[in-house]
Amino acid sequence: MKQLVQEVGPEQSVYEVDVVTTGTFGAMCSSGVWMNFGHSEPPMKMSRVWLNDVEAYKGVAAVDAYLGATQPSEVYGIEYGGGHVIEDLVRGRPVHLRAEAYGTDCYPRRDLSVEIRLEDLNQATMSNPRNCYQRYGAATNSTGRTLYTYMGKLLPHMGNVTFSGAGELSPLMNDPSLRTIGIGTRILLGGGVGYVVGNGTQHSPDTGFSTLMVQGDLRGMSSEFLRGATMTKYGVTLFVGIGIPIPVLDADIARATAITDSEILTPLFDYGVPSRSRPVVRQVSYAELKSGSVQIGDEDVPTASISSQKMALRIADHLKAEIEAGRFLLTGPVSPLPTQGTSRPMTQRETRGVPVTLRTRPSIPEGQSVSHSLERCVHCGLCVSLCPAGVFHRDEQGDISCEASLCTECGLCVDACPHRAISVRM
Ligand code: SF4
Ligand code: SF4
Repeated sequence: MKQLVQEVGPEQSVYEVDVVTTGTFGAMCSSGVWMNFGHSEPPMKMSRVWLNDVEAYKGVAAVDAYLGATQPSEVYGIEYGGGHVIEDLVRGRPVHLRAEAYGTDCYPRRDLSVEIRLEDLNQATMSNPRNCYQRYGAATNSTGRTLYTYMGKLLPHMGNVTFSGAGELSPLMNDPSLRTIGIGTRILLGGGVGYVVGNGTQHSPDTGFSTLMVQGDLRGMSSEFLRGATMTKYGVTLFVGIGIPIPVLDADIARATAITDSEILTPLFDYGVPSRSRPVVRQVSYAELKSGSVQIGDEDVPTASISSQKMALRIADHLKAEIEAGRFLLTGPVSPLPTQGTSRPMTQRETRGVPVTLRTRPSIPEGQSVSHSLERCVHCGLCVSLCPAGVFHRDEQGDISCEASLCTECGLCVDACPHRAISVRM
């Protein structure tokens, strides 16, 4: 496409190319999988869960959990983690599921240790808050010691430069105005079908660093395009392959897809400065980065990509083949992504600790037995069915009212309200 647009121009290219496929394959730490394990016998409200000794987030319903790609193993540290568990599941390998619970009347079980496979799960939904960066800053290191970073191993005295991203093959570089990539766009995610569900976290279109939030069924994915990995002395990550088709709807889109590595500039940061505002050594193009060396001062410094250019191309080719075979159909976005805005640094306000606002029950007015807070009440009606004295009443509009004078102080209602909207004098 790059060559064609140069040769015949963007207007003519529209008639010759229907779709440009793009691809990227690199470390995408903001990745993970929502899982539903199904209910055990007896059932259990899992409060903590581990998969192969890697803890998953359990601040959700009884047998749902989110396994984050960067979570390290409690046994093997960063040599094995969430990204590796995800790859093992996709490979069809058995995984040890261990869970703890405090036990409730409806979920009495307190512990569990079983073997599961991907096919056993009700759902395994890859849900990645930030993938597919438009481009990445490159990295070098001015200090006298080797640094181990998320940009890989950086040799002392600017002995090397690392970079990431697919440059001219990068999906968001080929549609920087986000005209065809938006909410609902069907994509190739980990070799399976996925969707763009929104802009990614730290989405920063004003600075040319847009990102995507994506989702897809893990069960359709392939370990060829999903790899758990460890960045030495940094942590666990997941290499994710993403391919996005860009329909060539007009000359502007054709022009955008003709972008070349030499036109894509990115800052080369000095990771030797331990600050979020790292000094920029110089601007470099992806063409220079991919050439094998960049010039820093008088030196030719070797470069290396931490993402895979070969895999990115394979993804773009795979997507092309799937489209040509009619197995992958394109969708238009149902809603656009933000095309303006900049990711901001953290606001670090001084604090001595912010007190928690507990949902305490309402006070009971003098001479009354029961108090009902309309501010708290969500009008569910639980109390109406429990009160034998008919204190609570639901009107035709669904509003709950309280006739306090009827209360016999039996206490049945007081612990039933989930919103702490009822107090009883007992
Ligand atoms: S149980 Fe609580 S929230 Fe529900 S209707 Fe009664 S007071 Fe309102
Ligand atoms: S204490 Fe008993 S009688 Fe009074 S409102 Fe609650 S359920 Fe009704």
